[in-house]
Amino acid sequence: TRVLLDNYVPSGRAKLSDFKIVQAPAPTKDQLGENEVILRPLYYSVDPYQRNRISGAMPGYTENFKKGDPISNYLVGTIVASTSADFQEGDLVLHNDGNWETEYITKASAISKAPAQQGIDPKDYVGVLSMPSFTAYVGATILAEPKAGETILVSSASGAVGQMVVQLSKVRGLRVVGVAGSDDKVEYLKSIGADAAFNYKTCGDFDAAIKQAAPEGIDIYFDNVGGEFLDAALANINYYARIIICGAITQYNLSSPEERYGVKNITNVLLKKAKVQGYIISSYYNTPIREGFIEQVSKLYHEGKITYRLTEAEGLENGVQAILDLFDGKNFGKSIVKA
Ligand code: NDP
Repeated sequence: TRVLLDNYVPSGRAKLSDFKIVQAPAPTKDQLGENEVILRPLYYSVDPYQRNRISGAMPGYTENFKKGDPISNYLVGTIVASTSADFQEGDLVLHNDGNWETEYITKASAISKAPAQQGIDPKDYVGVLSMPSFTAYVGATILAEPKAGETILVSSASGAVGQMVVQLSKVRGLRVVGVAGSDDKVEYLKSIGADAAFNYKTCGDFDAAIKQAAPEGIDIYFDNVGGEFLDAALANINYYARIIICGAITQYNLSSPEERYGVKNITNVLLKKAKVQGYIISSYYNTPIREGFIEQVSKLYHEGKITYRLTEAEGLENGVQAILDLFDGKNFGKSIVKA
């Protein structure tokens, strides 16, 4: 099975029909060139930025998928055959940009061995040790310069990035305010340690809801959504606040540039001497920070000090729907597809 991009979608929502699922024969050993492997994915990661990669025009940080080619993303899989001295049949490997395909050929230089960690299953490499979990770690524990006792506000807080921001912030002694789009998600946030949480779909006025949940003001705002909620957060920052711009999911499916939300409270950054920091996680992949993340988060997870909720689809043929579901909040926790 292969999932191909059939149409670019420059604006608005993508549909199932923008993709094509086809059957193709599996690659064979004799098709391998030098230093290549046949990789069989076990779990595929499903992430909002895949929407940006089908826009056809994203002036961005990741390449567009090519029309007619398999779409791709971070995945964990096993080696079926190899002509590389570095990989043997049966090795568990990670591919940052692996094909949505039952088996495929890739260069050995594009993959890495999954680091062995106690109590970590293959699934955890697209779960608690996934790219978004690492994104949370970099944003919330390094860039945000958190100090115990401070208050952090997190949007899309029950998602792949958000749930890790909440828990890593609690571990560091912060007061955590989480925001999510359903009452179940709000309950989950409280169960993983959020001191206050609210449903942004039913809370009414964002500004009033933030003031109620964080009467002491916000020292760190971890932004996954952009738009109107970012504006309301800016209205509630304290002196020397840090605003971490991780994502802007409210802005990914707009039908025209005119619909982009114009932030009104940016002057508050000046008045409050605050810092606004954006970042792209791939810049941190080959750094010691990633090793620190794997070590610390595996340990916390193994000791039961953090948890990581997944929404798991079965079968690659259901993968595209899982991408589309992210934009309706149908995922609860990190979205993945089991091969
Ligand atoms: P999530 O697991 O949080 O899934 C997306 C969630 O976004 C949905 O479940 C939904 O939750 C919420 N959502 C969808 N549409 C809207 C909307 N219109 N308004 C408000 N919330 C909405 O995804 P991730 O944790 O993987 O990603 C979170 C953000 O971080 C994204 O913006 C993503 O692009 C970004 N990101 C950035 C990276 C970087 O390098 N900077 C790396 C990885 C992710 P709910 O039910 O609560 O509404």
